Amino acid sequence: MLRVARGILLRPSFSTASTSKPLKPPTLLLSEVFASVQGEGPFTGRPSVFTRLGVCNLSCAWCDTPYTWLFDRDRHRKVAARAGPHAQPRIYDKRTELTRTTTDHLFRDVRALAGEGIRAVVITGGEPLLQKKHLQAFVTRLIDDGFAIEFETNGTVSPEGLPRGVHLNVSPKLENSMQPVEQRIKLQVLKECLAWPNSVLKFVVGEHRDLDEVCGIVEQLDIPSHRVFLMPLGTVCICGSAVPLVEITGLSIESQSSF
Ligand code: SF4
Repeated sequence: MLRVARGILLRPSFSTASTSKPLKPPTLLLSEVFASVQGEGPFTGRPSVFTRLGVCNLSCAWCDTPYTWLFDRDRHRKVAARAGPHAQPRIYDKRTELTRTTTDHLFRDVRALAGEGIRAVVITGGEPLLQKKHLQAFVTRLIDDGFAIEFETNGTVSPEGLPRGVHLNVSPKLENSMQPVEQRIKLQVLKECLAWPNSVLKFVVGEHRDLDEVCGIVEQLDIPSHRVFLMPLGTVCICGSAVPLVEITGLSIESQSSF
């Protein structure tokens, strides 16, 4: 009885009736939160607070944030079996890499990091939409507070339920991620994402042949080129020799800037 009374006293906003258990506050599994400059997609160069959430449903060979999801030996073995010498070199400790934080706490951290100068928040991962249920109210609160919101998602989890005003940077993974196509490409989900007024596709390309795959996906989705972004594969080189993006695409700097 005493514990219930204390719970009501300390967390009055999460209690329902005197006989009910106090409701748990919404939480998120967080990797890190920091202020930086957006380096990808349509808002490249914009100062932003990055909220990096934990866990991912994919396991890309070249992932640059394996510390958000690569926690168990079995998964590491599977990645290594596909990626061979390009596999992630180590397994991470979930207990030290991720923390469970309330959305209230995170909101305060974001505001503190943003200060007076930053008005944009990038929600990334891992795959952030895996925690969509607890993100919806958090994101709405940020928008009401005047922040522009960008999501970075791999395009395999439906965005349904997110506010329409958020920007979706959707990054379908190509064969160079070394995962089965049925896991990494979900056309129906990509169509849902593209129904968001502020959504773009962003592909990580490492070789010339990646462009054929990009063109195939873009054709199936029937979207205009100004909604398609390419970025260079930067963590490992699957093919053994780095190929600059300008060379892969055949575009000059001048022609890229005319987009
Ligand atoms: S989808 Fe993103 S976070 Fe997940 S494994 Fe691939 S690159 Fe890493």
